[in-house]
Amino acid sequence: MKIIMLGAPGAGKGTQAKKIAAKYQIPHISTGDIFRANIKKGTELGNKAKTYMDQGLLVPDELVCDLVVDRVKQEDCANGYVLDGFPRTIPQAESLQSALKALGESIDYAINIEVPDENIVNRMGGRRACPACGATYHKENIPPKIAGICDVCGAKLILRDDDKPETVKKRLDVYHDQTQPLIDFYTAEKVLVEVDGTQPMDTVFEAICKILGA
Ligand SMILES: [Zn+2]
Repeated sequence: MKIIMLGAPGAGKGTQAKKIAAKYQIPHISTGDIFRANIKKGTELGNKAKTYMDQGLLVPDELVCDLVVDRVKQEDCANGYVLDGFPRTIPQAESLQSALKALGESIDYAINIEVPDENIVNRMGGRRACPACGATYHKENIPPKIAGICDVCGAKLILRDDDKPETVKKRLDVYHDQTQPLIDFYTAEKVLVEVDGTQPMDTVFEAICKILGA
């Protein structure tokens, strides 16, 4: 069960990836975790990645792919894995595909969690953060006891720049530019499946389990 997760930032794909990993007992693999693990261990690939990151440069597609492929070759991935946050671009998808092909493997499912942009803008716009202690809230889902005030420390809550509608819209534009080609790519590979991400989290997960056949 080799799975890729697609979905806009804020669509809940990280949450679903973790739930899939837990239920099917397969590793949840995020590129951030792989980078950190390799840099910590000082592997050759990790050191290479670090030289780019130290200069504030993006790690090249080839190297990211090498790190991912190195990870999925490990024993705990024998029954499959969930890739979260990779591939993000067509060159990454192509290099992943050819690297897997060399191992006689391929991706089984690319799960696209669909949430309309305006829903994501609303979700993010409802977030509130405490500038003093870092606690986070949501106006509807996790409201503080007193509106606008942190439960933990009593400070005034703020809407972070990252969660402001104009910032979220910009991020979504970038996402759509990069991801639409990926959706086309995995559709052509006949592995793309779509799930309605506007439903409650547990309903989304049930829909995914149905697709995965359990
Ligand atoms: Zn606080």
